[in-house]
Amino acid sequence: MQFKSTHSSKSSVSFKDAVLRCLPPEGGLYVPASVMDMRQFFLYMDSGTAYHELVATVAPVLLQGELNPFSASQVAESAFNFEPELIQLDERVSVLNLFHGPTGIFKDFGIAFLAAVMEQLLKNSGRAMVLSATQTDTGVSMTRAFYGRTHITSVMLYPSGPIRGLDPATFVTQGGNIIPIQVRGTFDDCQRLVTEIIRDRPFAERYSITSANALNVGRLLPQALYYLFAFVKIKKYLKGDLVFSVPSGNFGNLIAGLYAWKFGMPVNGFIAAMNANNAFGDFIQGKAFKPRRLISTNSPALDVSFPANYERLAAFYEEAPAVMRNMVFPASIDDRATEHAMERFWKKYGILLDPHGGVAFAAAERFAASPEFNGHLVILATGHPAKAADLVEKTTGQSVEIPAQFMRLRKKTDPIAIIDPQLAALEGAIASCY
Ligand SMILES: *Cc1c(COP(=O)(O)O)cnc(C)c1O
Repeated sequence: MQFKSTHSSKSSVSFKDAVLRCLPPEGGLYVPASVMDMRQFFLYMDSGTAYHELVATVAPVLLQGELNPFSASQVAESAFNFEPELIQLDERVSVLNLFHGPTGIFKDFGIAFLAAVMEQLLKNSGRAMVLSATQTDTGVSMTRAFYGRTHITSVMLYPSGPIRGLDPATFVTQGGNIIPIQVRGTFDDCQRLVTEIIRDRPFAERYSITSANALNVGRLLPQALYYLFAFVKIKKYLKGDLVFSVPSGNFGNLIAGLYAWKFGMPVNGFIAAMNANNAFGDFIQGKAFKPRRLISTNSPALDVSFPANYERLAAFYEEAPAVMRNMVFPASIDDRATEHAMERFWKKYGILLDPHGGVAFAAAERFAASPEFNGHLVILATGHPAKAADLVEKTTGQSVEIPAQFMRLRKKTDPIAIIDPQLAALEGAIASCY
């Protein structure tokens, strides 16, 4: 599969180039230049298929010519010692738990695959320095995924404030390949610096710099695989329509679902479950997209005023607006409705949901209330309930035991450099570490 920029379809690049550049030099974001029908590779899988088997089967076909089946099974095994978990709750509803990774957030899936595949792609030649703007959970997820990978250094930029959950034994100063740098500024400053350094081509090329931010196709594409996994697990008992409800902030998860559909997964639609930050719903319904002021909610990962994947989603709509309007259904769920949904889910199914899953469940219930709907809904549970233990307890009365691996995420660590939020300072820090 080749990739092109959303700004120009003239030149296309390999998966390796797209991953190692992160952003196209001509601007825009990388998207698949063409999509392939993958049905023959997953339709015969069944509920006994393990996730790493699915990844090892589908990834080498998607990345033909770049990832052979042997390397793909190495990627699958070194990335995934955790799996998505599909639980059928009744005739109409299933939940896809995506929080069994090291940090309890679905982003572990994309990050783990990216690190493992990057190591394979660089096996015979080259190296990469992976820069990311991070906060607690993504920082830890990055360290878990990148630590010890040959030919790769992971530089993580943290905003002011405590840095938690890292193990100093993984740092370059102790022989590892992890470089945490604190930026005297905000998370936005960190993100801006990552983009600026990628755009500084001479520097970026000297150090082979790329980013592991959520825009990297190496994180986005593998997320399509857990949708296929969910489909393989439930196809036996599917009657009627299949709709996924996806808690959406930057819309990477939802776009990955749309790729799964393009790869041939039989699906009837996706609910774009937003909280009060729902400006994107207007766009989905055919109006112009106008970002609005950010509102703080109880599902903070969805507090996004301008979705980073806007151009990718817009590209889908430009290609086939009418099809997309029948495929993606926006919903906006406020804090109260989220809390009620968490409570109802617990009462009805005896399972705890985190607030992001709560947004998805509330949106799914609304959707299912329409008399025309007679199918099956899959709720994506993107966060572990223990990550929002207080809200879970408030809404369900259940106290959540915090697993030991999450307790470790709270331990403070020192960065190996503290810099001003300027490109020159960052480049100086990198040069001195290397
Ligand atoms: C990041 C995140 C989301 C939003 O995913 P997008 O791909 O940005 O739409 C949802 N839930 C949780 C728990 C997250 O961390």
